[in-house]
Amino acid sequence: MDTLLKKLVRDFPDINFVAGDQFYWSPKQGEVVYDKAALLKRTSPWSLLHELGHAILQHRAYTSDLELIEMESQAWEQARKTGTRYGFEIDNEHIQDCMDTYRDWLHQRSACPTCDTRSLQQDSSHYRCFNCGETWSVSSSRFCRPYRRKVPTK
Ligand SMILES: [Zn+2]
Ligand SMILES: [Zn+2]
Repeated sequence: MDTLLKKLVRDFPDINFVAGDQFYWSPKQGEVVYDKAALLKRTSPWSLLHELGHAILQHRAYTSDLELIEMESQAWEQARKTGTRYGFEIDNEHIQDCMDTYRDWLHQRSACPTCDTRSLQQDSSHYRCFNCGETWSVSSSRFCRPYRRKVPTK
């Protein structure tokens, strides 16, 4: 990932690449944060390209969890394109795995705590069950590393 990172830093002067302890895109700071401990991991270049995908597409705000998932999908699409330019082919299974984690996460958030019916989001932090009328709030979501989201936050 080291050489890729150097090339990206050179080719994307508007984006700040910052060493951190996980991969994520920070729209406020305009920063792509990368996990400095994971430099040698096989999936690291993919994660880096994915977060850069958010940056290139200028992903900032989303109003619902579904929209966020749509953005994640677009970021992977973009990552695939950028990857090709730099000679990195992103494993399709890896992308599917990530998308699955997002969907699991969405499923967790959208399931009614009372009757388990899948419900629709009302606004960025509320869901309402159309079956039993229960409402619940969820913490606002953010662009993050997919498997961190596995823990439901409702
Ligand atoms: Zn993402
Ligand atoms: Zn319910």
